[in-house]
Amino acid sequence: MLQNLRARRDYAGGSLPFVKALTGTANALLGSRGCLFTFHRVAATSIWETLPNRNFYLDLSFLDQLLSYLVRNGWAIVTIDEMLQRLHRGDRSGRYVNFSVDDCYRDTFEQVVPLFRRHGVPVTLFVTTGIPDETMPLWCSGLEDVILHRDFVRLRNDTMVVDTPTEKRRAYDRIATEWDGPEAGCHYCEFCALNDIDERALHWKHAISWQMLESFRSDALVEIGAHTVTHARISTSVPQTALAELKGSRERLEERLGISVRHFAFPYGRSGDCGERDFALAREAGFVSAATTRKGVIRRGRDLFSLPRNTLNGSHRNLAMVELHLAGITGVAARMIGRV
Ligand SMILES: [Zn+2]
Repeated sequence: MLQNLRARRDYAGGSLPFVKALTGTANALLGSRGCLFTFHRVAATSIWETLPNRNFYLDLSFLDQLLSYLVRNGWAIVTIDEMLQRLHRGDRSGRYVNFSVDDCYRDTFEQVVPLFRRHGVPVTLFVTTGIPDETMPLWCSGLEDVILHRDFVRLRNDTMVVDTPTEKRRAYDRIATEWDGPEAGCHYCEFCALNDIDERALHWKHAISWQMLESFRSDALVEIGAHTVTHARISTSVPQTALAELKGSRERLEERLGISVRHFAFPYGRSGDCGERDFALAREAGFVSAATTRKGVIRRGRDLFSLPRNTLNGSHRNLAMVELHLAGITGVAARMIGRV
């Protein structure tokens, strides 16, 4: 019964009619436009609340409702290739949206693509090639998994009790903040040893594999782009390293999947994470577009190597918030308060 109630959960919220009136006015004034959304992982409503890093996951039933809502309200859901064609044609007849998944985990294969397929609409996958190549430690997912399934965890000088959802969230935040940085993989490796974790098995519990990606190779509803080799922060890398991350991920995907990889998304993607030098490097690396996570909408004449994308995280379970992104209002607000 509870499951059924959850399945029918209404994400519209009381503010939706007011927000729609506001955004309708903005749309009428500003004309046709596109909007890019990005997210990382999805989780079923029934487990979302329990996840120590839950804001990293979109509630799957919210995403399901969101896709229906957009199609019902006249938004075309398109690939980035099609978006570029529309921009090139100067097509002002319609409104369009793209969804991209960054990094790519096992749930991209098991849950995200099947959901988009059920709706008959495309999704773009920005793959970090170190994930299927098993050269990049998935320390965030691994740490979260251990905290979720244990009552306590061992750290170098400490043992933390994590037997309630609140304790699990606090422990995840504390440890992830401490580890974040170039040494995170080493901290995670030591943590796995201390807690008798099979790091390899845990990697494949969460990672997308090349076999999974190969199954999308000729799928018209799946567009594959690159997201570096090691999830490097491009702005802090020297030019040769930055170019190797950009070009290396494109070439690895092309070689492994036998497809042309035309689009790139910058890891992290805020203004401190990628700038003018990096947009030029993306062009040099052979891409035809590159996306950031700066909020905003797509208009004609837009620079194709610094495309804005609006991040949907787990706390965004409200269609009114999506309407504000679609109208470009969150982008304007972010620029006004300097959060870009
Ligand atoms: Zn990423």
